[in-house]
Amino acid sequence: MKILDEIRQLTDSLQLAELGARPPVISALTGIHRAKAIQIFREVHGVVPKGSLHVTADWIFKSRRQNLVCTQFLIRYQGHLENGDGHIAAFIRAYQELEAKAQLSIDHAWVVIQEHDLKEIKLVKCRVCYTQYLLHNLDLQIDHKCPQCSGKGNIQLNQIPASHPIALAA
Ligand SMILES: [Zn+2]
Repeated sequence: MKILDEIRQLTDSLQLAELGARPPVISALTGIHRAKAIQIFREVHGVVPKGSLHVTADWIFKSRRQNLVCTQFLIRYQGHLENGDGHIAAFIRAYQELEAKAQLSIDHAWVVIQEHDLKEIKLVKCRVCYTQYLLHNLDLQIDHKCPQCSGKGNIQLNQIPASHPIALAA
């Protein structure tokens, strides 16, 4: 490995560790050896993370809010890729820009990317309000309505703001 590539890998790994990414995620993204990723994480945080990472897509659909945050992250990530960023830079920038970090840890942000790459989840556009949202690939919904417009999720129809297209149509 070239020294510059090695420096870049270490810099990316350090940045990911500072954002709270766990060693397996750092290692998967940058290709750095697992032991080195653990060392970087330990030096940044003073501890080694315990517990395993939740890796199925189910939690994305736990609530409308969760779906929204994951969608925002994925759209930003794809936007940076389209603008020419490499996948690590796109991932880091999309996460740095995310306002709702409390709702989406960087490890879970990585799961969103993984599940999307594996085609477990897909972005679809709501036919009522045209906002994009995530749908499980096994969900055979043809009449695309986002959780807000379909009244599913944790927001009820009577809580839709007056400015929302469905409220205006009523
Ligand atoms: Zn909608």
